[in-house]
Amino acid sequence: MLNIGCHLSSSGGYENMAKQAIEIGANTFQFFTRNPRGFKAKDIDYEDIKAFIQTAENNNFAKILAHAPYTLNPCSADKSIRALAKEILKDDIKRLELTPNNMYNLHPGSHVGQGVSEGIKYIAEALNENLNKNQTTLLLLETMSGKGSEIGSKFEEIKQIMDKIELKEKIGVCLDTCHIYDGGYDIINDLEGVIKEFDSVIGIKNLKAIHLNDSMNPFNNHKDRHQKIGEGSLGIKTIKNVINHPKLKNLPFYLETPNEIEGYAKEIALLKSLYTA
Ligand code: FE
Ligand code: FE
Ligand code: ZN
Repeated sequence: MLNIGCHLSSSGGYENMAKQAIEIGANTFQFFTRNPRGFKAKDIDYEDIKAFIQTAENNNFAKILAHAPYTLNPCSADKSIRALAKEILKDDIKRLELTPNNMYNLHPGSHVGQGVSEGIKYIAEALNENLNKNQTTLLLLETMSGKGSEIGSKFEEIKQIMDKIELKEKIGVCLDTCHIYDGGYDIINDLEGVIKEFDSVIGIKNLKAIHLNDSMNPFNNHKDRHQKIGEGSLGIKTIKNVINHPKLKNLPFYLETPNEIEGYAKEIALLKSLYTA
């Protein structure tokens, strides 16, 4: 069965997102833990969480994926920005434990000038200070497009972060199809080779989720502009290969395409029709 969902607005709460997901044929979803361009989180609604957990169980949901704000930068050269990132990480992990056994996606961050290895040291520090051995939430590092000074556009960089993490069982990777194509991994002509490279550098067992996006830009462009499924440079054939790949087909897929809810419903129906695995 294809485990598929899309990014939904969290403004109406968890139960509302679960109901929307069911309506559009999804069995999971992604959402922002707080304002994606700021840091403010909503008050915790325990009734809503209780209702959601029941709905997710009744409808056999795959793991849901929380996404940290874009503005979070645990790699920053600025100590106060790193301190804020740590505070948010800590609070997000605490909140996500109210909906146990799900996942939390994070952009590694941008080193903004001080260099990749300094940035990697800082993000590892932030994670080591905030992951705890009792948490059920799996934290995922997202593969990035390499826009600006972003860390994580090379599998080696993700691996270097992971090597520095003490609680390795609490982390994994989320592969974004738009980002890796932008980052120079040719999944159109050599999906098999890219998966093999992922496996040899990071280890395929660490791959826990896919952000399924087409791209507005040509190969190796480092721009990070998502496109609707089949309407971008990746095209429908590549997307079909991704969802049916033996090493990927059982992972949860999350759409982050430029769509309203009706558009997502159509993409989900299309993807189900392409899923032969
Ligand atoms: Fe992301
Ligand atoms: Fe993504
Ligand atoms: Zn993106």
